[in-house]
Amino acid sequence: MDMPDKIKTYCPYCKKTTVHKVKMYKKGKTRSTAKGQLHHDLKTKGYTSKIAGKVPVYKQAKRQTVVLECTVCHKKHYKTIGSRTKKQLNLKRKE
Ligand SMILES: [Zn+2]
Repeated sequence: MDMPDKIKTYCPYCKKTTVHKVKMYKKGKTRSTAKGQLHHDLKTKGYTSKIAGKVPVYKQAKRQTVVLECTVCHKKHYKTIGSRTKKQLNLKRKE
């Protein structure tokens, strides 16, 4: 799926429609001291594999998230693209 690298969209900080730079969202490192992770570690303590429960359903395609940077106030906000795509987004430069 193609997407332009500059789009006009609403900025929640300027409270009006401005031009935004589009970048791909990159997931950061997960903290080992996060509350949910500690809870999971405590629950699986003493066991070698997964805990019993619901079998996870794996979707074939993922929803893509992009980072939008306002060219006026230089603040960033995120946008998730509604439709699922099997391939990563291709940011194309608009001439
Ligand atoms: Zn702005």
